[in-house]
Amino acid sequence: MTELNHGLVTTLPGHVRKSDGTDGICEKCDERDCTVILQGETGSFGREYGFLCDECYKETTESVGSCDWCGRYAMLSPIRAMDEGLAGPVYDVCKTCQDMEAKRLEKERKYTEM
Ligand SMILES: [Zn+2]
Ligand SMILES: [Zn+2]
Repeated sequence: MTELNHGLVTTLPGHVRKSDGTDGICEKCDERDCTVILQGETGSFGREYGFLCDECYKETTESVGSCDWCGRYAMLSPIRAMDEGLAGPVYDVCKTCQDMEAKRLEKERKYTEM
């Protein structure tokens, strides 16, 4: 079967669709109208969507892919591995992993202060 069914929502995270103009303001710049909807991780909390304007979307597309740490397909941001010092490698990591890393560093900081 080669027939594509566009009515079904079987899109993978990272999928992009055009906004019909009723999605409000861009989440990133908070200025321009949202024109693009980016599907983020599909997890137990349901789908996460990013609502972006054209310009923010152009900036973002480069950082959509597989997370260097958990391997999930998501919107990524660069993060430096603190353990490896300031010259350490920079990873493209999803929001979930970034939050986890931030919590971990926070914990470590508390330990060393005690
Ligand atoms: Zn924007
Ligand atoms: Zn991740």
